[in-house]
Amino acid sequence: MAKIIINKSHYFHNLQTITNHIGDKNKIAVVLKDNAYGHGLLEIAKLANEFGIKNAVVRNVEEAKKIETLFEQILILADSNLESYSHTFHIAINGFEDIKRLPEKTNVHLKVDTGMHRNGFLLEELEEAIHGLLEKKLILTGVFTHFRSADELSCEFFWQRSVFIQAKNLVESICEKLFLPIPKFHCANSSALFRFKNYNFDMARIGIAQYGYLDTNPIFDNPELKPVMSLWANKIVTRELKKNQKVGYSGKFVADENIKISTYDVGYGDGFLRLNGDKQYYTPKGYRVLGKVSMDNISVDSIEDEICIFDDVKELAKIHNTISYEITTTLNPNLPKEVR
Ligand SMILES: *Cc1c(COP(=O)(O)O)cnc(C)c1O
Repeated sequence: MAKIIINKSHYFHNLQTITNHIGDKNKIAVVLKDNAYGHGLLEIAKLANEFGIKNAVVRNVEEAKKIETLFEQILILADSNLESYSHTFHIAINGFEDIKRLPEKTNVHLKVDTGMHRNGFLLEELEEAIHGLLEKKLILTGVFTHFRSADELSCEFFWQRSVFIQAKNLVESICEKLFLPIPKFHCANSSALFRFKNYNFDMARIGIAQYGYLDTNPIFDNPELKPVMSLWANKIVTRELKKNQKVGYSGKFVADENIKISTYDVGYGDGFLRLNGDKQYYTPKGYRVLGKVSMDNISVDSIEDEICIFDDVKELAKIHNTISYEITTTLNPNLPKEVR
């Protein structure tokens, strides 16, 4: 069966690199949403815990419950089913609707819209939002924002950062006026963190960098990260493909000599995005994936029993015209994980 291997030393290398930049591992919140970007929620949560990470970010309560005992604080980004919550959980408030929905005494982080305009409160709405929290007896534990183009070479990052600093000052003065404790402030994701020389907010939400990627403009002084995940497949059968014979759907690959080929047990049904045979993909050992990827298997010019399909998804991201996030996140959660 195909499987995913998680490289523990690469993972720890990345967490250490992030820690060195941010200066304190207590400031790191590992983003584990969507099955830890396809790496396996529990596997990655346990490793992060072993490294000493205390904060995590997930998408919903279901994910949070699975890792509840491994972290001191878990930020839940978007959930509409908040019947059951624990004191470890902190819920992101994305708008006035959220304030109405939440049960009393819930810990909340207010999302500030500093320019991405997906969700969150504008600066002029913050005072009303905080009063709304008080009325509903919600506990303000954090205030955060998200950058829309920290990975690109533009001044937008600086503009959003200055809007967030204004929001921070504003929230601090509102809290002082109302005798509320000052919440934690956080803004950076992976690419934003590495654009700060000195990150002096309380927390950063680190997703992709912990997994070994940073799809950032190479002009920035990017750290050396190591991809954590590799995908492995097992041989189903080997056969000979004679010169001029074709293999797979549409006969996209044509042998220009007699070659030995094998099918391996991974396909787009496992979330390994379909290569359509137009662009050549080579495995890390230099084997060619031949023609189109099928639902449950692929043809490769190898006879090995087990092969590594990828140990770095940058090339696949390029071929599929997407970002490394999508290549790892679409992998089927049912693929077995092995931590080494
Ligand atoms: C997914 C997400 C992150 C992590 O982003 P990376 O680019 O993977 O580091 C941080 N903050 C929010 C709000 C997110 O949704």
